[in-house]
Amino acid sequence: MIDDPYAGKEVWFLTGSQGLYGEDTLAQVAEQSQRVAAALATSSAVPVRVIWQPVLTSSDAIREVIGRVNSTPSVVGVITWMHTFSPAKMWIAGLDALRKPLLHLHTQADAALPWATIDMDFMNLNQAAHGDREFGFALTRLRVPRTTVAGHVSDPAVAARIGSWARAATGVAEARSLRLARFGDNMRDVAVTEGDKVEAQLRVGVSVSTWGVNDLVSVVDGVSDASIDALVSEYLDLYALADDLRPGGDRHESVRYQARIEAGLREFLATGGMRAFTTNFEDLGGLRQLPGLAVQRLMADGYGFGGEGDWKTSALLRVLKVVGHGLPGGTSFMEDYTYHLASDTPKILGAHMLEVCPTIAGEQPRVEVHPLGIGGRADPARLVFNATTGPGVVVGWSDLGDRFRWVANDIDLVEPDEPLPNLPVARAVWTPRPDFSTATEGWLTAGGPHHTVLSTAVTADEVGVIAEHLGIELVHIDADTTRRGLAKELRWSAAYHRLAQGI
Ligand code: MN
Repeated sequence: MIDDPYAGKEVWFLTGSQGLYGEDTLAQVAEQSQRVAAALATSSAVPVRVIWQPVLTSSDAIREVIGRVNSTPSVVGVITWMHTFSPAKMWIAGLDALRKPLLHLHTQADAALPWATIDMDFMNLNQAAHGDREFGFALTRLRVPRTTVAGHVSDPAVAARIGSWARAATGVAEARSLRLARFGDNMRDVAVTEGDKVEAQLRVGVSVSTWGVNDLVSVVDGVSDASIDALVSEYLDLYALADDLRPGGDRHESVRYQARIEAGLREFLATGGMRAFTTNFEDLGGLRQLPGLAVQRLMADGYGFGGEGDWKTSALLRVLKVVGHGLPGGTSFMEDYTYHLASDTPKILGAHMLEVCPTIAGEQPRVEVHPLGIGGRADPARLVFNATTGPGVVVGWSDLGDRFRWVANDIDLVEPDEPLPNLPVARAVWTPRPDFSTATEGWLTAGGPHHTVLSTAVTADEVGVIAEHLGIELVHIDADTTRRGLAKELRWSAAYHRLAQGI
């Protein structure tokens, strides 16, 4: 099992003020900011620990605490609030050094204004209204990517947005430390799954390394019968299996072989500290089946995966698995496969050769064994199911040569119109927003890939925070997207991202 990605993770709550109003005022600032931090720390919407730090009133103190933010692995980001008027020049050195996500909280200690008793002491104490404007200017002047949230922390919508940001910040931390194993290279002749791995390590943080698939095979071949038995008994608990696939059945050996691959993959990845991987059906070495059920099980456990050597989608899947950890819904590798166009609301049927994650299942998955038309190996075991219904998002990662572009599309997962008795793979059916033509034309125009991450747990909001922090372009196709608007956005966005990189 992969560790809980939120265990021990923290965001630090930094309060800005100044000495102009004396020690009594600063004591009140400390008390009030501890209250705000405590409200966030105890909110069920915020998945990380919120650690209040002493009130900051000098450039040296700010630079020192930001240095510790950068160097402390458990800290995934900072929340800043300028309680009183905090002259922002004192923040310049610290903000310039900050390397982790920042949320600028624009709030006040108490929600209600005491109209009958308000005096200048109250006014001088509660002046985030202009203190945060001074700070916002400094952030903009210094080009600090950030998320700005305004409102009182007792408002569930405010806590929810801060929680969403904290999840995205934890996703950034995961990307920064992510190691990915590729078994074999890219599928021959495919363009969009290629990309610049050096740039990915610099900009995103993910380290992508290749192993010969037979390095994995030697681990797979060494898996003990006891390990296989333990996994098979899990399969029997969790999934539906026909009699001939159960222990003693004619085709049980096919299932046992996927359990062998699963155990071998887990051992190989754990030994190397890797939480994402790719396979390629053209390069299976000594593997007797294409990894199917095994990959699906590892995705369900939180591993990133991409088929056909697609390391970009695999890395993105792992990051979004972290973002969505513990939330209702699931997150999977996905591929736009085929269309139902004979409808006022055309549908996309997404699937893959085998590898769809059961966290998005809308029913109990069945273990099935069928021949595979490509790859030329033994019939692989896989989980087959229909995906859940409801709102979701698909996100793809393209390398445009001069930059990375992520394309996201809000979708609505729906039931298939009819049963699919002859389709031997897990599948999801959805309608894209705002409508089929606008969304797919936009996706194609943006150069979005055919492989995506599909999630019903995370939203484009978290993807946007991560993209902003990493300096990656995000094209988001949603209910408000129009052809004309998107065409303009793509043109302007290309210019912006070229300029933002400098020379
Ligand atoms: Mn594919």
